[in-house]
This record gives sequence, structure tokens and C-alpha cells, in this order.
Amino acid sequence: MLHRELETVSKKDLEKLQFERLKKSLAAATKAPYYQKLFKEHNIHVDSIRTLEHIKDLPFVTKNDLRLSYPDGMVAVPKSDIVRMHASSGTTGKSTVIFYTMNDINAWADLLARCMAATGATREDVFQNMMGYGLFTGGLGLHYGAERLGCLVIPSASGNTLRQIQLMQDFRTTIIHITPSYALHLAEEIAAQGINPRDLSVKKAYLGAEPYSEATRNKIEAQWGMHAYNSYGLSELNGPGVAFECVHRCGMHLWEDYYYMEIINPDTGEVLPDGEEGELVLTHLNREAMPMLRYRTRDLTRIIPGQCACGRTHRRIDRIKGRTDDMLIVGGVNVFPSQIETVLMNIPEVGNNYQIVLDREGGLDRIHVKVELYSKMFSGDIKNIDNLKKMIVERLRALIVVNPRVELLEPGSLPPSTGKAVRVIDNRKL
Ligand code: ADP
Ligand code: ZN
Repeated sequence: MLHRELETVSKKDLEKLQFERLKKSLAAATKAPYYQKLFKEHNIHVDSIRTLEHIKDLPFVTKNDLRLSYPDGMVAVPKSDIVRMHASSGTTGKSTVIFYTMNDINAWADLLARCMAATGATREDVFQNMMGYGLFTGGLGLHYGAERLGCLVIPSASGNTLRQIQLMQDFRTTIIHITPSYALHLAEEIAAQGINPRDLSVKKAYLGAEPYSEATRNKIEAQWGMHAYNSYGLSELNGPGVAFECVHRCGMHLWEDYYYMEIINPDTGEVLPDGEEGELVLTHLNREAMPMLRYRTRDLTRIIPGQCACGRTHRRIDRIKGRTDDMLIVGGVNVFPSQIETVLMNIPEVGNNYQIVLDREGGLDRIHVKVELYSKMFSGDIKNIDNLKKMIVERLRALIVVNPRVELLEPGSLPPSTGKAVRVIDNRKL
């Protein structure tokens, strides 16, 4: 089937395809030492998986299982068939390593070309890839997809801000691939050069690799005068390209011919119906070197019920709220950093960077929120700043119950991010 047909495939045909592909993944998995042991321990015979529903009989795979089978316990092909390795960023501990055959690399490039095409990108576009190259999947993943689509690719990688600006100007970049935190920082640096980011030729941004709120998307779109598309992926499942927004930008199509998705209750493992929020679990449907079966992503989202206006039949997932292990418990109240971000970024005076610091004093949790404001705020009446501070404290208190300490800072006071931002410093764990 061509990509166009695959993207609008009927539910019935999709399920048929998924099942055929699942059988292949299962057969491949039996070649990997990790799955051999797992299947034996759980007395699983892959032939007993006779429908898609039976996937529930398989145990989950976790990031820790990957770490324990490091470096190659999950590899399902001879070493000579492997052409590439990548590693996760290591945001939550030791990095995990992932391997690809040539077919895996090709399928991944096809998928990313599909993602980009869904946003309206064409071979006329100039694509500046500001994600880290190297072991991180973000850089090379989109790079190959953009080439497959026929764009001019500028592999500028992350950082080196002045050079990024120069490249954008000289080659009239139309699409950027960037983390949301770096997009905010870059806009500030561009303005510092006396250039309005809206005057550049950038029309689209692919934003991913870290959680961010709708309020942040709106802010970035306004600063740059462009459309920002949410892009989701994780190394264990290839990297970027797992789910991507189309031109309608109302949730990310999760490509169900490549991935079988389930949303589970993270506490009980029970599979939840469409619409309910839980942890995303993914199974590879066309991966040779290292197929993942029921991999627990730890990312929280929900399936958006109903059809997208674009006509693609692959179901959409909602913006990722955060990882199950990102949840902060402050004074007994559960809160995700993305909820704090929503409060802050909805306040127009708030600038482009913030940080959350947690401490324990005398047995009590203390939360300290550092917020950068736009510089114009500091030239005005000091009373305005006091009032703003009071408002931020009140809005945060409504969310987190405990009384936060809020510190308002000039732009550039907090460490800038050129990749995945570190927003939370939890000194309670030290
Ligand atoms: P690590 O798990 O070490 O950070 P990865 O580089 O593979 O390694 O990062 C993948 C993770 O990044 C995802 O599991 C998710 O938590 C986060 N992520 C990626 N894209 C997005 C996105 N668009 N929105 C929110 N979080 C994202
Ligand atoms: Zn769509």
C-alpha cells in the first residue's frame, strides 16, 4: 500500500495489517535472548496470540528491562545485519541503546517524510534541524525524513545560536526542528540582534523532545509568526515520528501501521478506553533489529476520540502531560511541571524561561518558582512588579495548595536551554 492509502486505511484493513505485522514482530522477538527468557518464564507461546486482543497476554516491557538487558539482550538479528545504533538522552537515568537494520532506517525515514508531508512540507522547503545530532535520535531521525521528502536540509544541530540565526537568514529557512525551550530562547537572541523573528522566512516549527503546554505553543507561534506542530517520539520506539500533528494541529496522529497503541492505568496495568488519560504503551509492528512488545513509555496522554478533519484514520493522542515519574508531590498534592508551566505561560508579562526548585525545611515541602519577565516590566513602576508577583503566587497556590515563593527575574537570568530543558531542581532527593 502507498503511504496515502495507508494513512486513510479503514479500521478493518488497519487491524488486519496490524495483526499480520504483529505476528512478524513476535517471530522476530523470539530470536532475542531477553524475549526468549521472558516467554519461557511466563509460559508464552507466540502461536497462541491469534488476534490483536491477545496482545494483552504479553507482559509489559519497561525502561528498566532495557537497562538490564544492556547492551544487546533485546537484539533479534545477527550483528552483521545492524547498521546503526542510537541511545536515549538519559533524562531519567542510564541511557538505553537501540539498534537498527537498513530496513529499519528506511522505514523510519519514510515515516518521518510522512509526518512532514502531513504538515504541508514539500521539496521546496528549507529545513534547519536544530536538534542534537549523534547518539540522540532527534537529529538524524528527522534529517533522513526531510531528505526523503526532498527538502534542502541544513544539519545545524543544537546550540551555536548566532550561527543558527545567520543560517536562517542566508538560506531562507522555512521549517525549523527545535525543542520548545530552545525556540523561546532563540527568539530572544534574535530580538537581541535587532531582528524581529516574524520577519524571517520561517513558516513552521516542529516542536518536541520535552513536555510543553498549549500556552507555550501559542507564545512561540506569536513570537515567530509561524505554525508550530507537536512532534512525539522516543528512542526505544525508533525516535521521533511515533506521533505528529497534521495541518489541523489538534492532537498528534499516532501511526498505527507502525505502532500498536494502548493506554493503561499506570497503577494497575488495566487497558483504558479511548478518551481516558493514562500511560501510553507501544508495540512495534515493523521493526527488525529490536522489536519492542508492549513497551511502557511512562508518558501520560489520552486518545482523542473521533476523526480528524484531514481524513487520516490513524487515531490522535493528546499533548503529553509529562512522564509518570515527572509528577511532583508537594505537601501531599500531586502536580505536573506542565501544569505549573500552563499557569505561568498564560500570563502575558511572563517571559521565556522559568525554573522550579523544591526543598524540604523542617519537614515541610517548600516550592520556589523562578520566573523571567520581559525586560519592559523592569523599566516601569515597581508596584506593577509587586502586583504581578502577588497574582502569580495566587494562581500557583490555587494549583499546588502550598504557598510558593515566587522570584521575578530579568530575561537571561536563568540558564538557557539549547536542548531538553531542565525545569525542576528537586533538592529533597539529595
Ligand atoms: P529520554 O527518555 O532519556 O529522555 P529520549 O531522547 O528517547 O530519551 O526522549 C523521549 C522522551 O521525550 C519521551 O518518552 C517523552 O517523555 C519526551 N518527549 C518527546 N517528545 C515529546 C513531546 N512532543 N511532548 C512531550 N514530551 C515529549
Ligand atoms: Zn489530521
